[in-house]
Amino acid sequence: MTDGQMLLAVFVLLYLIECLRLVPSTAWMASGTGKSGWRSLRPWMRLQIGNGSPLLLSPLPPMQAHALALPWVFVPDHDSLRVRLTDSMSIHIAWDKLTPRAEETTLHLDVTTRVRLPSKNLAELWQQRLTEWRGLTPDQRHSAFLKHARSTLDTKAAAKAATEAAQRTRSLRVLATIHCLWCFGVISVLYHRFGDSVAVLAAAGVLLLLQFIQSWLFLRSTRKSHIAIPYRRWRALGIAFLPQLAMRAFDVVNLTTDAEPPHPLAWRGLLDEKRWLEHARQFWRESRYVPGWPLNESLPLEAEALQKFFRHEGIAEDDYDPPAAAKLPTCPRCGAEFQSGITACSDCGGVELRQPAA
Ligand SMILES: [Zn+2]
Repeated sequence: MTDGQMLLAVFVLLYLIECLRLVPSTAWMASGTGKSGWRSLRPWMRLQIGNGSPLLLSPLPPMQAHALALPWVFVPDHDSLRVRLTDSMSIHIAWDKLTPRAEETTLHLDVTTRVRLPSKNLAELWQQRLTEWRGLTPDQRHSAFLKHARSTLDTKAAAKAATEAAQRTRSLRVLATIHCLWCFGVISVLYHRFGDSVAVLAAAGVLLLLQFIQSWLFLRSTRKSHIAIPYRRWRALGIAFLPQLAMRAFDVVNLTTDAEPPHPLAWRGLLDEKRWLEHARQFWRESRYVPGWPLNESLPLEAEALQKFFRHEGIAEDDYDPPAAAKLPTCPRCGAEFQSGITACSDCGGVELRQPAA
């Protein structure tokens, strides 16, 4: 490997590191540019760092804007609070053991449990909200949760926030695309052909010029921003001199927000409808089919909130909870089929199977 190739490899590595974000393990990210056709991304939940998980933002040009969503992390049960740590893991904390305390973006819930939230502001908001919930009666908690659920399932607001974020970073992203192609395409081709030469030096000069423009665009687009970007001027200096910061400057603008993130299902219209429906079914199955479901008279709280939302959106029950067509007992939660005679799915913590119609 020549020095030039080595340098390029280092740049690629630095760039990919810049595309990584530490997010809550349950978070969802949408990437896209327009009013629809966004794609959803998930973090690597197996990797737990600082109470969160790393997520790789779309790294390839043309650069995409990003928006974050968060499923309901805190759900009140009768005598405890259920905390969703990952997609498949939740824990219960008894109300009298709950001592919420925000520390930067981390919310401490009791002596051992900590959850990462997308922003410091949100950690403080949840500290306040959970302290409030702790003092309420079960019925009041029930309505408080439904109110929270309703506000996070506003499809119009979620689409508006995402498209506005994309709009706000449009010029930053266009320049980042040119910059990325120049850095990893044009310069490497020139270097491959001419080696250490004036042409490569001139191309590097153009790269620096692009970074200066990017830095100015960044300062301009964040000048009137209602969210204070931490170390804004230092960051602008970094953007001017470090290619990887220049290429991802728009992420800082898009992802620095104090607003409460929507539920991922609020992205209806933003995501492809078929994809969205798959997500809707999964959220429904996981909230509806809990151990004891055939006997429970009322829906679990999360399922109740989702059912209200689906009705409001005009989605038929058969669409979000398609009837089983199998001839064998089937787990309504994970869809696995079992031999006749088996009544519960052990993978799903003992969820009762749906028996085929005789
Ligand atoms: Zn199952």
